Amino acid sequence: MDETRHRDLAEQLDEEQGYRRWRDWRWQLQHSVSDIPSVEELLGIRFDQRQRGRLEATLRRFPLSITPYYLSLVDAEDFQNDPIFLQAFPRSAELDILKGDMADPLAEDRDSPVEGITHRYPDRVLFQVSNTCSMYCRHCTRKRRVGDRDYIPGREVLRAGLDYIRDHPVVRDVLLSGGDPLMLSDDYLDWILSELDAIPHVEIVRIGTRMPVVLPYRVTDDLAAMLKRHHPIYLNTHFNHPREFTASSRQALARLADAGIPLGNQTVLLAGVNDCPRIMRSLVHKLVQNRVRPYYLYQCDMSEGLSHFRTPVGKGIEIIESLIGHTSGLAVPTYVIDAPGGGGKIPVMPQYLISWNTNRVVLRNFEGVITTYKEPDSYRPVFCDRDCDNCRLSLKLEEAEEYKALGIEKLLADHDAAVSLVPAGNPRIGRRSENGAEPEREESSPGT
Ligand SMILES: *Cc1c(COP(=O)(O)O)cnc(C)c1O
Repeated sequence: MDETRHRDLAEQLDEEQGYRRWRDWRWQLQHSVSDIPSVEELLGIRFDQRQRGRLEATLRRFPLSITPYYLSLVDAEDFQNDPIFLQAFPRSAELDILKGDMADPLAEDRDSPVEGITHRYPDRVLFQVSNTCSMYCRHCTRKRRVGDRDYIPGREVLRAGLDYIRDHPVVRDVLLSGGDPLMLSDDYLDWILSELDAIPHVEIVRIGTRMPVVLPYRVTDDLAAMLKRHHPIYLNTHFNHPREFTASSRQALARLADAGIPLGNQTVLLAGVNDCPRIMRSLVHKLVQNRVRPYYLYQCDMSEGLSHFRTPVGKGIEIIESLIGHTSGLAVPTYVIDAPGGGGKIPVMPQYLISWNTNRVVLRNFEGVITTYKEPDSYRPVFCDRDCDNCRLSLKLEEAEEYKALGIEKLLADHDAAVSLVPAGNPRIGRRSENGAEPEREESSPGT
């Protein structure tokens, strides 16, 4: 959007401070747009009386909230076809609840042992640490809850979730979700991450957030520095369309990547927004250029109010068909259907294995080449009774020992940084460190 329109928008929202504080994420949240007349005024568009009535009825069921930043990306000249507008602004079709649509299709509430925790898979949990978002995506799978409990849970509630994780040593991966976890202040999030760091069996933490897309100013240097103190942290974001890339969203991603956070992206396949192989190819290329690995492409869930966004599964398969082989494997997400009833994510792929017998498989590639792979004539399967100590594979799981130089060899080896060996208890070195000076790199302990 051009500079004058951006300035107009900022000043319409907040005449005194809008332009100056535009990049302040708290200002953005305070000025989120939540009613239809404001959208009309800010975009310079008009709905007729009948449309307005239907939209108001939609909002009573599923409320509206758009950050000024995200609203500013809408092409007002062609808003009906604008992918930003379609993801942010209600349509009366949301009230068409089809037979089979469900309030909680993924049974997240049912699979919840304590408030905020969904424990569906053996070794990882979803931890909803926020019940609010900066923007209400129209395609939210948790649409049933959007806006009705708009709050950030207090420490007492989160402690119950943390206790659950602490009491379940099988949990090695915790996904912070919500709502949007980055609605929390840096300090509050820092506290949660510190609590998780202190649980020995939690190996990694993942954050799911749409902030880089809908409010990139949330990704401050302070936030990135705080997250960096809690590694290993992974972050998955939610770009759905190439138009969502801007200088600010790129900068947010760069800040996170520079903090050493591996970035992933989860896209939802949405009719009229991104159900097109060309759009998807452009999207995944922009993602990898910005150091974001496309992780999942989701089939749109059967949640109430989403029927107008759903596509046939064949559209997803067509998109994956157009990516595999045609572009970097790194840029191809896994297409998944999240099973209604809580069965979890199920990957769906085009068919590449087209026939087989007892010693050959027939495959086709992305170009349509048909080929065979001949299987080995003999293969001795390993009998497995989980008696690993006696297995002929003698599998080792412990980390390998890295070669270390010993004694004088350390001083001769190019790969060792030692410059001198000093006997333990050398009084000269003792005096030196007493004076507060850093001891030189010296190796002195017996046995090295
Ligand atoms: C998606 C999801 C996860 C994480 O799944 P991954 O495939 O490991 O990314 C964990 N718990 C729940 C409830 C989920 O929906």
